[in-house]
Amino acid sequence: MAPVLLSGPDMSPAELTAITSAFDSGWIAPLGPYVDAFEQQMADRLGRRHAVALSSGTAALHLGLLAWGVGPGDIVPTATMTFAATANAITYTGATPYFIDADPETGQMDPVLLEEVLDELHREGRSVPAIVPVDLLGRCADYTRITRIAERYGARVLADAAESLGADHAGAPAGKLGDAAILSFNGNKVITTSGGGMYLTDDEHAAGRVRFLATQAREPVAHYEHREIGYNYRLSNLLAAIGIAQLGRLDAMLERRRARREAYARIVAEVPGVEVFQRRGDRHDNCWLTALLVDSEKARFGAAELAQALTEAGIENRPLWKPMHMQPVFAAHPARITGASEHLFRTGLSLPSGSVLDQRECQKVDRALSTFLAAHSGITKRTGRGRRSADPDLYPTEEGTS
Ligand SMILES: *Cc1c(COP(=O)(O)O)cnc(C)c1O
Repeated sequence: MAPVLLSGPDMSPAELTAITSAFDSGWIAPLGPYVDAFEQQMADRLGRRHAVALSSGTAALHLGLLAWGVGPGDIVPTATMTFAATANAITYTGATPYFIDADPETGQMDPVLLEEVLDELHREGRSVPAIVPVDLLGRCADYTRITRIAERYGARVLADAAESLGADHAGAPAGKLGDAAILSFNGNKVITTSGGGMYLTDDEHAAGRVRFLATQAREPVAHYEHREIGYNYRLSNLLAAIGIAQLGRLDAMLERRRARREAYARIVAEVPGVEVFQRRGDRHDNCWLTALLVDSEKARFGAAELAQALTEAGIENRPLWKPMHMQPVFAAHPARITGASEHLFRTGLSLPSGSVLDQRECQKVDRALSTFLAAHSGITKRTGRGRRSADPDLYPTEEGTS
């Protein structure tokens, strides 16, 4: 049997209809009316003036930094607890990422550490034109504090909202926070175009630069004229059609992710030493991935043992992001480390969280988790099967889940 995936693509007849109409329209090339409509709909939803659809979230990070003139000699502070794409994109520009450790509870870039680093770099006379906070697992970083600190030091904020479409912070949706933001539509994100990304800003000049650089820096004349190095980073019109259909289903899909979060929270509620990561205040999260934190002393088992049991049961699971400062490729880069992200990496485990999970898959995961917890923590309460499998809230059914 195929394993239960962490966060698989959630496709329905709506996506098939959309891509078929795009195909039939004859606009197969990159760009076209579906790209324009996808950009417009996303900009409207998030309250941004400009949106540029791109081939990936990584491309959006890269061009977002280039549009602000970030380059060699610059330092760009970012979260150490993130996917490599964030740090990779910074290095593409020739700038150096500076890894900032996490708040121990939320896992987000710690604003106190950020301020210390900026103060130090400022006194050393270093150039810090931009900061890239990351919305970890679908929770917005603390933009209230980060934005204030960034302003004080004259740095702009490029929000890596690759994981957080649908989340919000201080009344603003992810994608609207920061001077600019990027989204990812990779196959495992809350919506997917199979591969794609978007750059969002209210700054017309920056949006124009991103659009220009993404189309090989072609000058607006009849022949091919180039004065700068460009990139081939635009989104295909066919893929934008999928994106539009996905965006139309976003709210329903987020509800299903949240139902997973609630189910896991109920299962571990009475289990000593086990908690749902980022649980406090999570009504503002999009619940992209739900992870457990396992305190092995109190729980009498470690995250690795749980991981092994789930893997053996055919259930995909994964530790939290291995921090960038621990990655061999970034070992020589500057970092401000407290140990918080290393601790989260050792104790965290992400569980199947996708909106595509059907009732059978949800039950399979819940049963495997409950059985493991009952056997290892000595807790037998609330782990029975009967009541839970009859709970319609836990296992919503929806057409289109294959
Ligand atoms: C997925 C992801 C990206 C990269 O997006 P792609 O579309 O895969 O290039 C960047 N940052 C974070 C935090 C991500 O999770």
